[in-house]
Amino acid sequence: MYTYSTIHHLNNRLNRYRAEGKTIGFVPTMGALHPGHISLIKKSNETSDITVCSIFVNPTQFNVAEDLDKYPRTEKKDAQMLKDAGCNVLFLPSVDVVYPPDKDNSYAVDFGDLERVMEGEHRPGHFAGVAQVLKRFLEIVKPDAMYMGQKDFQQFTIVRALLKKLKSKTKLVMGETIREEDGLAMSSRNMRLTKKDRAIAPLISKTLFDAKAKIGKKSIAQIKKEALKQLDIPEFKVEYFEIADGITLQPISDISKVKTAVACTVVHLGGIRLIDNVILK
Ligand code: AMP
Repeated sequence: MYTYSTIHHLNNRLNRYRAEGKTIGFVPTMGALHPGHISLIKKSNETSDITVCSIFVNPTQFNVAEDLDKYPRTEKKDAQMLKDAGCNVLFLPSVDVVYPPDKDNSYAVDFGDLERVMEGEHRPGHFAGVAQVLKRFLEIVKPDAMYMGQKDFQQFTIVRALLKKLKSKTKLVMGETIREEDGLAMSSRNMRLTKKDRAIAPLISKTLFDAKAKIGKKSIAQIKKEALKQLDIPEFKVEYFEIADGITLQPISDISKVKTAVACTVVHLGGIRLIDNVILK
């Protein structure tokens, strides 16, 4: 596996691959890798000739500075995991490489209603930061395909809209959410949970799967009410639990009226923000 931290060196390598007619798959990450990230590397290996993974903790997508400071950094272990998974190129840029101080790095884009609900509503500026960094990475890597997780369903939807706005030729591919045996969605943040909180956390995914099991038997309003009741334990602070149209992300009341639907939630547990979703239809 080649590791680069400058655009110049990365491009030299990628241009060589392109000259050989190879397709480039790209997996953007913030590091602290786990099997969820690795499943995206494997997906890219299956459908692209070359897999590039970036590790960059993007400061512009954190609306709480403390979250950025506490973001786990496990670069050495990450590199080994990527190598073992068959990743070809690791891109490890510094903040100045991604956002050159002598350039205007701003990128203002309006995603309309997509960014006014759920994550967008509760993390002001978050998706602006995500769009800014991904626009930059798309310029740098110019991948044929980009692989992102269902775990961040709204982010995936926003990125789909971003690619459309940029008239990008990059294909966006979704990887399913990889879970721990007890159902908890794998996340870099899980390692920050206390042992006690880690034991309680699977109630989040259980609630989502229970909601899915009730589809067709109960109304959406009733399912939502019961889910909120299930999550109502002293340790949890529920930020939102929403049942939304899988395309527009707007809340729905009748699942028969939409093509796809998703139940999304964010729960705070011991100060850790945990996100998860389950596709209902
Ligand atoms: P992050 O490093 O958290 O920014 O995530 C990088 C990519 O990995 C994003 O596309 C995430 O959606 C994806 N991802 C994170 N956790 C999981 C998971 N448990 N299963 C599948 N993909 C994931």
